[in-house]
Amino acid sequence: MSFTSTRLVLRFGFSSEAVCTSLKRKSSTTTTTIPIPVAQKSNEERLVVVGGGAAGVFGAIRAKTVAPDLNVVVIEQGKPLSKVRVSGGGRCNVTNGHCRDNMILAENYPRGHKEFRGSFFNMHGPVDTMTWFTNHGVELKVEEDGRVFPVSNSSSSIIDCLMSEAKRAGVSLQTGKAVRTASSVDGKFLLSVENNKLRSVEYVEADYLLIASGNSRQGYSLASQLGHSIVDPVPSLFTFKTDDLQLEEFSGVTFPKVKAKLILENVRRDMQQFTQVGPMLVTHWGLSGPVILRLSAWGARELFSSGYSGVVTVDFTPDMHIEDVKSILGRHKSQFAKQKVSNSYPSEYGLVKRFWKYLLDRQGLSGEMLWASVSNNSLISIASLLKHCNFQVTGKGQFKDEFVTAGGVPLSEISLNTMESKRRPSLFFAGEVLNVDGVTGGFNFQNAWSGGYIAGTSIGERVHGSYREGAYS
Ligand SMILES: Cc1cc2nc3c(=O)[nH]c(=O)nc-3n(C[C@H](O)[C@H](O)[C@H](O)COP(=O)(O)OP(=O)(O)OC[C@H]3O[C@@H](n4cnc5c(N)ncnc54)[C@H](O)[C@@H]3O)c2cc1C
Repeated sequence: MSFTSTRLVLRFGFSSEAVCTSLKRKSSTTTTTIPIPVAQKSNEERLVVVGGGAAGVFGAIRAKTVAPDLNVVVIEQGKPLSKVRVSGGGRCNVTNGHCRDNMILAENYPRGHKEFRGSFFNMHGPVDTMTWFTNHGVELKVEEDGRVFPVSNSSSSIIDCLMSEAKRAGVSLQTGKAVRTASSVDGKFLLSVENNKLRSVEYVEADYLLIASGNSRQGYSLASQLGHSIVDPVPSLFTFKTDDLQLEEFSGVTFPKVKAKLILENVRRDMQQFTQVGPMLVTHWGLSGPVILRLSAWGARELFSSGYSGVVTVDFTPDMHIEDVKSILGRHKSQFAKQKVSNSYPSEYGLVKRFWKYLLDRQGLSGEMLWASVSNNSLISIASLLKHCNFQVTGKGQFKDEFVTAGGVPLSEISLNTMESKRRPSLFFAGEVLNVDGVTGGFNFQNAWSGGYIAGTSIGERVHGSYREGAYS
């Protein structure tokens, strides 16, 4: 948009109520230009936040807290905090309470792990998140695996807290409006905003812009319009479909600790993160549980390019050496020689009977066979299968509790100390719009809270003239 046309639009949009009203009447379905109803004092600066999700609302509250005289407007195309509502199966896994060390915390971000080793979480880490919500009246609990939830077990507690805090701080929340275009003229931003209900277009000016649009394509487009590149978005955090129909028989079985390795044809390097240890769950379509979700996150890009086809090798006895696995089988054979192999098996492996039968089937051994007749070669094969059980991945399943997108604005294009764009002053980003994603466990919301907080602080301090580049490093 040229300078001249921008001025025209501004005059048209902001100065003439009469013209706007008549335009509004002209048609309810065609696109018209009306001023956005944002109260602003003449010398007041304005921050527009694109997106009323976790990062946007938290950033807006923080900016308004640091600079109460700043005019803060959040523009949300749908309902605010809608992902918070459905998150964690409706319970909202707010953050993770087990990672107090930033280096360990950073390891939970397949995209972001290198950059987050620095100052990012020092400004606002998981402990700060917990303190913030507790101080604002939300009681939290840390579950055994580190996931933090409201004691109410309801995401409404988080939503109600954020909404009332936004209101109390004086944040203006405009819903049902989508920011369609963004340009920058003379150090100010000009946004075209479509009112979904009226089908009209409004124009709004901003001194500061915080793009917190999550994984929306429109948000990526706004970032591009303002000079940023976008790393292609691909899904992260999903389960694996397998072609093993027999798996269905023990669907619902959980293995508390397995070691799983993802092998993909297009991955030359032996990536450390492609091997994960933890609980695994068998579902009627394949494999799930924390171990699989972590593999899906670390392998998100590579799995996408391989068409979600690869092999997962599972070690069901990760704390045992293969020789110990063999000796246990040998001992069992001599002790229970007269028992059927399907009825008696070593308890040391911690396996359920249904899975033991599956292993026998895969080895082609009849469950009716007595232990006495099991050959040494068969014992070795069972031991190998327990240590290296291959499952062919044939597709991507759904993980309903959490889902994120890998890709977005590259972290190299923003300053993590302030969340400000390195390409355009006064433009800030926070949350999933960035090329950041975490594994499951509260890490994705933590990225949103941290980014929103840092951006809000930076903007607020800029308003007061106390902002310094790299102030928080
Ligand atoms: C089902 C599900 C469950 C999840 N559970 C968890 C969990 O328990 N713990 C966890 O840590 N993470 C969880 N996540 C991930 C987490 O929800 C996201 O990482 C987080 O919401 C990102 O916050 P955000 O503010 O960056 O983006 P979002 O929450 O996606 O918010 C972005 C907002 O911007 C709006 N928007 C986009 N473009 C425009 C535009 N042009 N104009 C106006 N508005 C716009 C969108 O409507 C949206 O409301 C879950 C995700 C899903 C899908």
